Amino acid sequence: MANAPSLENRGRPRLDQATAQACSDFLRRLVQTPSLSGQEASVARMVASEMRNNSFPSVHADRIGNIIGRYGRPGGPILLLNAHMDTVDIGDPDAWTRDPFSGEVSQGRLYGRGSVDMKGALAAMIYSVGLLARHGVDLPGEVVVAAVVQQEPTEGMAMRVLVEEEALRPDWVILGEPTNMQIARGQRGRMEIRVSTFGRSSHSSVPEQGENALYGAARLIFGIELLNAGLMKDAVLGAGSIAVTELTSVAGSRNAIPDRCEMVVDRRLTLGETAARALSEIEALLQREGVRGRVETGYYRSVSYTGYKTEGPEVYPVWILPETHPLLIQTSASLERSLGRKPMVGTWAFSTDGVYTMGEAGIPTIGFGPGDARHAHTADENISLADVHQAAQAYADLAIDLLNYLA
Ligand SMILES: [Zn+2]
Repeated sequence: MANAPSLENRGRPRLDQATAQACSDFLRRLVQTPSLSGQEASVARMVASEMRNNSFPSVHADRIGNIIGRYGRPGGPILLLNAHMDTVDIGDPDAWTRDPFSGEVSQGRLYGRGSVDMKGALAAMIYSVGLLARHGVDLPGEVVVAAVVQQEPTEGMAMRVLVEEEALRPDWVILGEPTNMQIARGQRGRMEIRVSTFGRSSHSSVPEQGENALYGAARLIFGIELLNAGLMKDAVLGAGSIAVTELTSVAGSRNAIPDRCEMVVDRRLTLGETAARALSEIEALLQREGVRGRVETGYYRSVSYTGYKTEGPEVYPVWILPETHPLLIQTSASLERSLGRKPMVGTWAFSTDGVYTMGEAGIPTIGFGPGDARHAHTADENISLADVHQAAQAYADLAIDLLNYLA
């Protein structure tokens, strides 16, 4: 541990060297076990058994396959620690200089897909509650570790199942997505937009007899590129953004003029922007460019590893925890004691399960996690093991401090 226990930390369980090593070993095994979204079964089994090994009195899998471990006194306030078990794919394997599934450790850093996003925080959370449980720390409520599925494609969906269908009602939520050991208090919202442009097919040897849907799409794409620079801006969360991320065309053959194009547009919504506004901006572009087309909100349908089916619109609302909220003030004070320095408060550039917990359900939510988000979704993803161990200590201290505050 980098910090000697301060006076305020006296009497609290401290993560010892052997436990820190066990936490690192568990993280390595997590990284060695691939867990693409919808394929989390093996990692879920490991998580459940590691929770039991860490003396969690209650561990169960819910209908969608989230693993829920609880410790403390039922009937009191509930603090939920959230980590997702799924990862994105490795991308181009040649871009990696190390095996993405080796969990190799070099100079205090553990390498591999999911190390930062976010198996490091998952391991830290399980070991934090293990620390409390083994020392029999008396909590005035419950700390719940929710290891959730399918966060990468459809953030918030697994938390919706946990809250609305499994009736778990946390008072406060801490997300372990990477913050580099600082605090994140919000993020822009996200939506996926599907745009089709329509034309009229002809033989490609006489293109003037048809209407090329790709040319209409091209005009629209230029308009979208220009739109990005002029979107609304929020002082804390920054500007909204828009980007075309996929384009396909439909034609009878390669020597026919395409009569339809489909594109996927990724839209990040800052405070004050709405899904309806985002759709109408693109509709206005179609009109201006004289392109025949259709604009719709994306819609997902997915099946979890347990066979549980979910579906819904791909709209994930913006959220921000006010600066004066007690969750922010108490988290900041607790982390300052635990880490021996005052954490900075910022926001995430990417999207998290907070879109449901705070954005839709209104449950006060905050972010604190080990690892630098710049390594997430990249080749040679890696995390500092010292940060993972400090995070484990910090989550244990947060459980004590926040539950005592709430009680
Ligand atoms: Zn993540």
